[in-house]
Amino acid sequence: MSIDVKEFHWLADMLESVEVGLVILDLDYRVQAWNGFMANHSGINAHRIRDRILFDAFPELPQTWLERKIETVIQLNVRAFTSWEQRPYLFRFRNSRPITGIDEFMYQNLTISPISGPDGAVEKICLMIYDVTEIASGRLALEKANALLAKLSKTDRLTGLLNRGTWEQLLDVEFERFRRYAHDTSLVMLDIDHFKSVNDNHGHVVGDDVIRHTAELIRRNLRGSDVAGRYGGEEFGIIMPETDTDGAIALCERIRASVEASVISTASGGLTYTISLGVATLDGDVDNYMSWVEQADRALYAAKEGGRNQVRAHPV
Ligand code: GH3
Ligand code: MG
Ligand code: MG
Repeated sequence: MSIDVKEFHWLADMLESVEVGLVILDLDYRVQAWNGFMANHSGINAHRIRDRILFDAFPELPQTWLERKIETVIQLNVRAFTSWEQRPYLFRFRNSRPITGIDEFMYQNLTISPISGPDGAVEKICLMIYDVTEIASGRLALEKANALLAKLSKTDRLTGLLNRGTWEQLLDVEFERFRRYAHDTSLVMLDIDHFKSVNDNHGHVVGDDVIRHTAELIRRNLRGSDVAGRYGGEEFGIIMPETDTDGAIALCERIRASVEASVISTASGGLTYTISLGVATLDGDVDNYMSWVEQADRALYAAKEGGRNQVRAHPV
């Protein structure tokens, strides 16, 4: 194709101002052209970089990777494309559109095209750098939101503990693990004492505070492998792997004592309360996790019957 001089200037102007980075390299990686986009984002003008070896001007570039890509383009005489998902950027430019929660650099797609001479042999290489920060940040924000949603659907909103469904799934997993390996595994069911009167005397908002506070005390007393969930309104379950009855009772005592010792501040002054706990350590007697919960519930019921503010273990 032939273009006259007037047309050439018009074309050069356009390439200079287009919102895409254009770099032309000779086969020794010397810069032959460097448009306005590249100058603006790198802070290096075209006349200063002209004829310099690209990797000398930008030592931080992934040289081996880029050379291999370019060599393939030259050999096959075809274009190559790399997206930000494979490599977030080639040139580390600052992100010109400050988007909160996203990295500071500009995400880039890259096209490498061969430029052939009159005889058809590749003489130069053209790099085109596209700013895809908006697309990338949109996608990454979506991924973050999805991860948050997945987490939210597993946790209880009031307490941040696992919700019942998730907790029960883990209980089932622990139960199956016991069947295979028969390691000591304990379950605790825990219920706030006389909670109705907290609601009746102080209102639901204070009631919610008491539930949240109980969850926090449970969390503070647990060990890394214990798993706590909100089982119902003011009832909680704790799975304790590798824990026998004595160990579980000791942990329950700690939680019970820390609840008894704490004071919730309300509009009408300090409020104290207690909890009751039931422990069931797995033995060969139960067929499924639901019967396991029933055993712990029976121990909890015995703690209530026995006067509340205490720990009881199965069998009662
Ligand atoms: P007990 O010592 O026998 O456990 O007596 P209790 O009054 O605690 O009895 P129960 O466990 O049956 O009471 C549960 C009460 O908890 C009834 C319900 O109104 C209240 N409740 C359930 N979920 C919530 C909640 O999310 N927030 C508040 N504020 N109250 C709740
Ligand atoms: Mg209760
Ligand atoms: Mg209850």
